[in-house]
Amino acid sequence: MLDGRRIGDEIRAELRPRISHLIEMHRAPGLAVVLVGDNPASQIYVRSKLKACEDLGIRSFQYTPAACTTTEELLSLLDSLNQNTEVDGILVQMPLPKQIDPERILLAVDPSKDADGFHPFNIGSLVANRPAPRACTPAGIMQLLKRSDIQISGKRAVVVGRSEIVGKPMALFLLNASATVTICHSKTRNLAEECSRAEILIAAMGRPAFLKAEAIAPGAVVVDVGTNRVTDRAEVERLFAHDERRLASFAKTGSSLVGDVDPRAILERAGAYTPVPGGVGPLTIAMLMSNTVDLAEQHLA
Ligand code: NAP
Repeated sequence: MLDGRRIGDEIRAELRPRISHLIEMHRAPGLAVVLVGDNPASQIYVRSKLKACEDLGIRSFQYTPAACTTTEELLSLLDSLNQNTEVDGILVQMPLPKQIDPERILLAVDPSKDADGFHPFNIGSLVANRPAPRACTPAGIMQLLKRSDIQISGKRAVVVGRSEIVGKPMALFLLNASATVTICHSKTRNLAEECSRAEILIAAMGRPAFLKAEAIAPGAVVVDVGTNRVTDRAEVERLFAHDERRLASFAKTGSSLVGDVDPRAILERAGAYTPVPGGVGPLTIAMLMSNTVDLAEQHLA
């Protein structure tokens, strides 16, 4: 099992002396977090990001514009954050309410303050394999693979999913690390066959337990990015008949977080795998902190 929690802790511990040095030299790194509206899932994500900042001594500035905010109003907030010298990193929590144009918002964040690494300028730097803030989830997965001594160079890697925030940057990271990369998506023919050739399989589809045993080569490294909340009791009992703790937790809460790969197939076939939860999730926040510290160091230099 590839332990994302342990590696996330390791990455955070490595940031502490860098943050102390920044405080000594100048000031604490500053992260502005913008949460528009009252989406409950977004509120939970933002809370854990703010908590991670607090734990590390990163200064956070929270902005919570109302759900009816316009694109123009949000652009004006971003403009002031771009100018604010106390702010090293800016994060706009997605998704945004429907009336706001996410493209314009993404483009309005100064690329040198882009804590999420989503700005096209920074994606372009990833394409060119040049240093820049990196999308946090795939950057975290690379740390997980490297720190778990999983060789990437020369391996056949398959990424299922081509979103701007996970699938595409993930494929680029693996290519930059000299894997031979295949990207699959909803129009891919014979998905299981494509996946079954992978020595490293990254599943980022958002479909609970979609990939079954025939999609996993024996001994493959399986990184499951999927985070799907399942409330169907029969489904959870079917997927986790082997896992008493999981069933007990479902009995208490009435839901269970399930990845994109069938957990029974993982146990049967995978050589190494990330659990859901506790695999990729903790690394995403660790990398957000890491991007913020990198940006603060660049602003000091
Ligand atoms: P997304 O934007 O919805 O993209 C999903 C991708 O999967 C799309 O490219 C889609 O193909 C592909 N796909 C969907 N159904 C498919 C199918 N049946 N066969 C093949 N490909 C299929 O999702 P996302 O934002 O990348 O997130 C993916 C998952 O990762 C979600 O469960 C999300 O919650 C989770 N996630 C977790 C973390 C974390 O920190 N743990 C962070 C981010 C995301 P098309 O492009 O053809 O539509």
